[in-house]
Amino acid sequence: MIPRVELSPQVVKEIVHRAGRPDFERWSEQLHSCGYCSRPVRLRGRVAYHSADGRRVGYSTDGEPDRVLMIRCGNRRAAVCPSCSYEYAGDMWQLLYAGAAGGRKGVPESIRSHPLVFATLTAPGFGPVHTTRADRTGGHARCRPAHGTPRPCPHGRPTWCTAIHGEDDPRLGQPLCPDCYDYPAHIAFNWHAPELWRRFTITLRRTLAQQAGLTAKQFSQRCRVSFVKVAEFQRRGVVHFHGLIRLDGPGDFDLPQIDLDSAALAQAIRQAASHVRLTVEMPDGSGLVLRFGAQLDTQTVNGGTTGQLTPEHAARYIAKYATKSAEDFGLGERRVTPETLPLLNVTDHVDRLVRTAWHLGEHPAYEGLQRWVHMLGFRGHFASKSRHYSTTLGAIRSERRTYRQRQAAEHSHELLDNKTTLVVSHWELSGVGYLTRGDTTLAHSAAVRARERRQAARDAA
Ligand SMILES: [Zn+2]
Ligand SMILES: [Zn+2]
Ligand SMILES: [Zn+2]
Repeated sequence: MIPRVELSPQVVKEIVHRAGRPDFERWSEQLHSCGYCSRPVRLRGRVAYHSADGRRVGYSTDGEPDRVLMIRCGNRRAAVCPSCSYEYAGDMWQLLYAGAAGGRKGVPESIRSHPLVFATLTAPGFGPVHTTRADRTGGHARCRPAHGTPRPCPHGRPTWCTAIHGEDDPRLGQPLCPDCYDYPAHIAFNWHAPELWRRFTITLRRTLAQQAGLTAKQFSQRCRVSFVKVAEFQRRGVVHFHGLIRLDGPGDFDLPQIDLDSAALAQAIRQAASHVRLTVEMPDGSGLVLRFGAQLDTQTVNGGTTGQLTPEHAARYIAKYATKSAEDFGLGERRVTPETLPLLNVTDHVDRLVRTAWHLGEHPAYEGLQRWVHMLGFRGHFASKSRHYSTTLGAIRSERRTYRQRQAAEHSHELLDNKTTLVVSHWELSGVGYLTRGDTTLAHSAAVRARERRQAARDAA
């Protein structure tokens, strides 16, 4: 569905102007080749090559509409650019799938027989929040039913909620009592989450070594833990991690030289995640012990026997999470201060989280935190992997770039093969985004149509 928007006379004028230009077709082509990006980068410049037979061939943006070439913004976040985020998720999927299923991107097919587990590590509770849950039959259950004689909290608020919240209920993720909610611990968790994950991977290696009856050194000579993980914000504004964790041998993609299957790996992950602790300093001088939450999920993917999840599904789950970020909380991707916060129209909960983060950032142990309040204190990478998991995003992108260049070259009958030598290449940034609101509107509706075509093709397949 193309959203119905009110077009001002100015925008209509801009649309008519664009569509009436003789180079409109070329402009549409550019739109298509930058994937209907929401805010493309506009470049001005030229390149020249010497072809194999000594001819000089070249390209200049002087002949392009508005004398610019539009290229993708490349943003990972769906809230910023649906198109580039879709492409990013696709690249992520390739990377994840290669490491799970093998037989592609330089990962051998034998990787399928390595123990592999899809794990979700959550944060602990910082106070009850409104939530959705399933009852025993999988139906919708009440949020937080009262047990025994219901007693209000010290602030006189109910400690129960008998509502069955819909998926779009704005109360979801909001605390039942904000005064009972432990905001500093919540922010401390987000801030230290990357370190907690690192500790978890160390604890996991130790746990596995113990299970196999080996010393740490013996273990590392026979086995390596490879993983890829993404951080996802839960509704309450705390990060949790989804990871694909695999056992390898000491060499690249070798079989591990210990006798552990996927079920044993899952068991070790649960044990390590429930044991790992990180004591951090709080402004009042007290030590806060951080740990993962009791809600811990592991599913075996493969490893000789049939797993609970297929590599395709596991890869799809993680790739999907990788395009979300804290923008869903209305904070945008820029720095936030307590002064600019009221302009953002965020929930009371997010307001308190941001203010707590700012306050905590004044303490020396939390230096730098104020730069990350728009991420609710999370400063880690949204997606990261150990060195040996599979290929890299960079390799996948450059493969796609080469493919597109070849396509473009074939299209324009230029001789951009291996025998050409680059003689001139000069580019400068002309701007970001579309030139007019009319162009933006045209690009947006073309993007919606392209998505619909893609969906229809998928449905037909
Ligand atoms: Zn984009
Ligand atoms: Zn509720
Ligand atoms: Zn309370």
